[in-house]
Amino acid sequence: MSSGVSPRGSSSTVAVVGGGVIGLSCAWRAASAGFTVTVYDPAPGSGASHVAAGMLAPVTEAVPVEPEVFALGAASLRRWPDFAAELASAGADPRLRTGGTLAVALDPGDRAELDRIAEQLSRMGRAVEALSGRQVRRVEPSLGPQVCQALSVPGDLSVDNRALLNALLAACRGAGVQFRAQHCRQLPSADVVILAAGAHSAALHPTLHRAIRPVKGEILRLRCRPGTLPPPSRTVRAIVGGRRSYLVPRDGGRLVLGATQREVGFDTDVTPGGVRELLTDAERALPALAEYALEEAVAGLRPGSPDNLPVIGELEPGVLAATGHHRHGILLAPLTAEAVLALLRGEAVPGVVGPAAPARLACGPPVSGDTSDHSYRHSRVARSAP
Ligand SMILES: Cc1cc2nc3c(=O)[nH]c(=O)nc-3n(C[C@H](O)[C@H](O)[C@H](O)COP(=O)(O)OP(=O)(O)OC[C@H]3O[C@@H](n4cnc5c(N)ncnc54)[C@H](O)[C@@H]3O)c2cc1C
Repeated sequence: MSSGVSPRGSSSTVAVVGGGVIGLSCAWRAASAGFTVTVYDPAPGSGASHVAAGMLAPVTEAVPVEPEVFALGAASLRRWPDFAAELASAGADPRLRTGGTLAVALDPGDRAELDRIAEQLSRMGRAVEALSGRQVRRVEPSLGPQVCQALSVPGDLSVDNRALLNALLAACRGAGVQFRAQHCRQLPSADVVILAAGAHSAALHPTLHRAIRPVKGEILRLRCRPGTLPPPSRTVRAIVGGRRSYLVPRDGGRLVLGATQREVGFDTDVTPGGVRELLTDAERALPALAEYALEEAVAGLRPGSPDNLPVIGELEPGVLAATGHHRHGILLAPLTAEAVLALLRGEAVPGVVGPAAPARLACGPPVSGDTSDHSYRHSRVARSAP
């Protein structure tokens, strides 16, 4: 796919609005390539990226199938081992886990759903191994007696999202990225602006106004205590009474349990109903959970888009979008940063990123009463020519 953006000298200035996993990954890659990069964010690393579970899971997320979302995820997953290794050698280890995923079913109806997932995955040419309840408990003894069937899915990875953010911040600083603790109401002045404000991106450009919305997700962080069975060694995705939850292990006997999904605007309160939903389902898969220490209950806002694809590409000359990653921003960070760097250089972006181009978004009138995008058009400081 051709970028359609004029090549930019690496002496160009780049302003990144938003210091989540996407903004920081783009900033790091751009600064490492010689661009002069400033990240604008009142609290870098505090958005959805701080809340996420860190699954890098295009395979087990692929049902129901969204082929273009899957293709993006698979392409980014392939880049993850090198991305993690480069970050580690730039200063801090993002703690990539390569143990794969177990999808487990509890009730007969869930079993049928697991069969459908197995069928779909094998049609996609993905290696999966069916395990009985007894077999799966042999590899993961903390799984409870109600788990009656499982699929072992190698290949899906996970990363500690907070270690990742620390690693990205360190790598950015090492590459010379400047940080401004500033909430932007309009786009800052630079040769190129990269708009990466997650769920808040809609307010910063008219093309994104109808396209990007917040999708609330609650998540719990737990720690196993002495005398309790340790958490599984790999990610477990449980189908419980038709609902899906996941358990993602962390170092030190810790576990991330997620996640709810609600369309309730910019609301980041954790509700008793959300916590109950998460615990009830997960405890059936992992009974020892009831004795774990509950360390944190937190909610974040996924940047949703109408077709679940991110928005990566030119919004107008000098303004690039890198947003709308919805449930997959951690997974898609390496590929997004690669595509954005290609755009900065005026090079072709990986073909798989084509469907994420902003051109697909219809630009209509604003949905909410927020008019900040209109002020943006008129009051934005003129940026220098490329
Ligand atoms: C519960 C939950 C679980 C998830 N699990 C996974 C998972 O397992 N795997 C996965 O791949 N993805 C997961 N996600 C999705 C993933 O977290 C997001 O897609 C990703 O974090 C989006 O990154 P971002 O950088 O675009 O946005 P964010 O991380 O939200 O960062 C946006 C940043 O922009 C800043 N900002 C906002 N407005 C402005 C402004 N006007 N000016 C300056 N700065 C601004 C904010 O302070 C913030 O730091 C999960 C999300 C949630 C909520």
